[in-house]
Amino acid sequence: MKHALGIDIGGTKIALGVVAENGTLLASTTLPTDSRLGFKSAVQRMCHAARKLFQSSDTAATQLAGIGVGCTGPVNPLTGVVDNPHTLPGWDGCNLIEALSAEFNLPTWLENDADVAAYGEYHFGAGEKADRLVMLTFGTGVGGAAVLKGEIYRGAGGGHPELGHLPVTNDGPLCYCGRKGCVESLASGPAIARVASELGFASADAVFAAKGDNASASKALIQARDAVATATWSILHSFLPDRIVFGGGLVDAYPIFFVEAARATIARARLLDTTAVTVAPARLGNLAGLVGAARWAIDQQVLGYPRSEVHPPATRSQAMLPKL
Ligand SMILES: [Zn+2]
Repeated sequence: MKHALGIDIGGTKIALGVVAENGTLLASTTLPTDSRLGFKSAVQRMCHAARKLFQSSDTAATQLAGIGVGCTGPVNPLTGVVDNPHTLPGWDGCNLIEALSAEFNLPTWLENDADVAAYGEYHFGAGEKADRLVMLTFGTGVGGAAVLKGEIYRGAGGGHPELGHLPVTNDGPLCYCGRKGCVESLASGPAIARVASELGFASADAVFAAKGDNASASKALIQARDAVATATWSILHSFLPDRIVFGGGLVDAYPIFFVEAARATIARARLLDTTAVTVAPARLGNLAGLVGAARWAIDQQVLGYPRSEVHPPATRSQAMLPKL
């Protein structure tokens, strides 16, 4: 059985694990991201932690199929370069693929963290190998990914679509993406906490805890529920997926709130046959990214895809454009 090192890099912590191709986690650990200490420090700490995992799982680095990295984006999976000043300040322009593959002399693959989480749920969790899977993650931000017939969906130039910035209203707070009323601006943890604070609650958790018997708490959650429902409506009518999976810290804590908002809106659809569309909370929790990243690296080796085919160079699509 093949194994790979999976790494999930978030804004606050980094999870690493040695993972078998059947999803079994042989050893894992987490460390703080501390991105302000610099990229070099993070790479050194990741490599040190990885070597300890190789020892504890009795796995030699040379036996691994590769390294899969999911990283809070934007990241460029083709070049390996991080471009995320929002949650990884100081790492702009740093190359994760070069740094890690040079250290371990292993093929290394970089993807957006939502993509590998969806890939993990597709193989080992609530995705259950659905041919058309869309996943939304709700936490500090709102992320999203699609896995179509087992392949991570990519946009133009190999880029990653940002489903957290689907518009759900023309009003609402101005988002850093450039427009008002994104689902992230209304249903992320900080968005719910902001409304909660305006209504006198200490936190988003306090609102969820009081929901059943407090009118203000119910009011605070209405905009989040509406945002989840409207985003689901857009995804349903854009993709008609077999499965919609909700993950992330907020969903782990309050799965029914998210899943019921989506199911209720899907039940109102009239143009589509939605009998095959199911909604489920993620099953792998915070291991989805780690396990999905490792499996992605293994699959690239097994399938033998050269990187240029997995990520078509931008020049190819530019060359196909008609001359004006
Ligand atoms: Zn936005």
